[in-house]
Amino acid sequence: MPEVLKAPLVVEFPFTRSLGPVQSAFLTGLRERVVLGVRTGDGRTLVPPVEYDPVTAEEIRELIEVAPTGTVTTWAWNPAPRRGQPLDTPFAWVLVRLDGADTGLLHALDAPGPDAVRTGMRVRVRWAEERSGAITDIACFEPYDGDPWQPTGPAHDGRFDDMVTGIVAPARLDYVYSPGRAQSAYISALSEQRTVGERCPSCRKVYVPPRGACPTCGVATSEQVEVGPGGTVTTYCIVNIKAGHTANLDIEVPYVYAHIALDGADLALHGRIGGIPYDQVRMGLRVEPVWTEGGRYPDHYRPNGEPDADYEMYKELL
Ligand SMILES: [Zn+2]
Repeated sequence: MPEVLKAPLVVEFPFTRSLGPVQSAFLTGLRERVVLGVRTGDGRTLVPPVEYDPVTAEEIRELIEVAPTGTVTTWAWNPAPRRGQPLDTPFAWVLVRLDGADTGLLHALDAPGPDAVRTGMRVRVRWAEERSGAITDIACFEPYDGDPWQPTGPAHDGRFDDMVTGIVAPARLDYVYSPGRAQSAYISALSEQRTVGERCPSCRKVYVPPRGACPTCGVATSEQVEVGPGGTVTTYCIVNIKAGHTANLDIEVPYVYAHIALDGADLALHGRIGGIPYDQVRMGLRVEPVWTEGGRYPDHYRPNGEPDADYEMYKELL
């Protein structure tokens, strides 16, 4: 049994979203050190606010200011903060019911240790020094044993100058990925510049890359079959948008990305087509892989000089 591979994998991208009127007011309020909730039809105040009543689904728009002080309703200690969390020292995740609100706001509580945290303790917002209209404008909560908060003026109605209308939320998934037995064998073969699929014992189809089972028959596959290196472009698209900031995607546009059925495979895989002007790529074009020095998979595929394949030969592999 060959070694099953695993490797760290990070998927990271900025997620840009627009804000509706309620979230816009909430986040603009944080920038101005005002915490806003919404009032539901039955008189409850929800913080953080939502746009639709979770019980009746009615649209709710009545904004109401609540206090920056509140009570911890439940908590969990985080002994080892991870990248991007509110504090870089151990802290408690807390649900805080702010004074004037009926629901809990999830945030971090800066406390010296779990012994200093309890349900029912009083806390207040610690504002970030630089605020931009984001939940991180609340740096964290901190223990508070002072008097209840008193408003200094009339309650805020949620209208501000220069409303925040959108946010960019960085998304990051950081995990260890194991491709499993079948794809480990596939990747290991690629390191020898060979492409190996697996044949279904029932329908006899050869899957490349192999997933370890036939999705049609629902049975495990184990018979390894070497395919290629030649293949046929079964369909393709012309890419006109330059993507990525990483070196391996630094390709001049336009370029062609294609489905390629390697000889002997019953499933097309994806690859970039090079060595031919983009507007001369066509269905049926015969291609071969091009490996770069030290590459772990073909950099691209190029025409191999053979006559185009007959449509009948690849029509099931689009
Ligand atoms: Zn099958």
